Amino acid sequence: MVDSSPGASPEAPRRSARLVLIGPPGAGKGTLAENLCSFSFDHISSGDIFRGHVRNQTPLGQRLGKSLANGQLVSDELTLETMKKWFWSRKPSQGFLLDGFPRTLSQAQAFDEWLESRSIKLDAVIHLHLQEEAVVKRIAYRRVCPKDGRVYHLLYNPPAREGICDDCGTELIQRPDDREPVIRERLRIYRQKTEPVLTYYREQGLLLTIHSEGHAADLAKTVEQKLQPFFAIR
Ligand code: ADP
Repeated sequence: MVDSSPGASPEAPRRSARLVLIGPPGAGKGTLAENLCSFSFDHISSGDIFRGHVRNQTPLGQRLGKSLANGQLVSDELTLETMKKWFWSRKPSQGFLLDGFPRTLSQAQAFDEWLESRSIKLDAVIHLHLQEEAVVKRIAYRRVCPKDGRVYHLLYNPPAREGICDDCGTELIQRPDDREPVIRERLRIYRQKTEPVLTYYREQGLLLTIHSEGHAADLAKTVEQKLQPFFAIR
């Protein structure tokens, strides 16, 4: 729940929002979700929901595990089955910020049907835009300490000694899915499958596109300001 996030003013009740967040890997979706303080919502990541099923060894988890392991998108059929379960487990009044779903046009169309059947309307769809080369630069230069999890960036936040964790002296590694060919493949899938979703929401007047090059805190402020008109007209 974001309701208790730091920085929220106790005097100004935060408005319950129904938002979708779309952007390429590395665009900063998770950080933005954490920093959006003037709205109240549950931050829901489809990836987290899927991993939860796998961890809890549910029947869905057994089917999801195979798809997640190969790094490709989960099929629309299985994604919709899983996300529908999540959707109908909630009260219609609960706000949400959906991160990672919908990711294909058919998912977006199915999601609209579910919303309509419960008389819920989306307030806005936030699209974080980042140039592909900036994505590659952000992710491919990332190194992590396998022991304490500390994250470095070889250009912007390098360790004092090359390849060694400042805190514990362990040799840093690159996560397999942070390697450049893997990132480029994820970006290709994003272009092919997810960009049509942007057009779909743009045509509904719901899309707010924000360039995500800057600092995380500034980005959240900009998004909050630019979201206001979406609430004013609804
Ligand atoms: P990432 O977006 O960095 O891959 P996520 O945590 O959002 O990480 O998702 C993890 C994995 O779950 C994705 O790589 C994909 O296989 C699957 N996934 C998540 N959301 C969807 C979706 N809406 N449609 C299909 N597959 C999805």
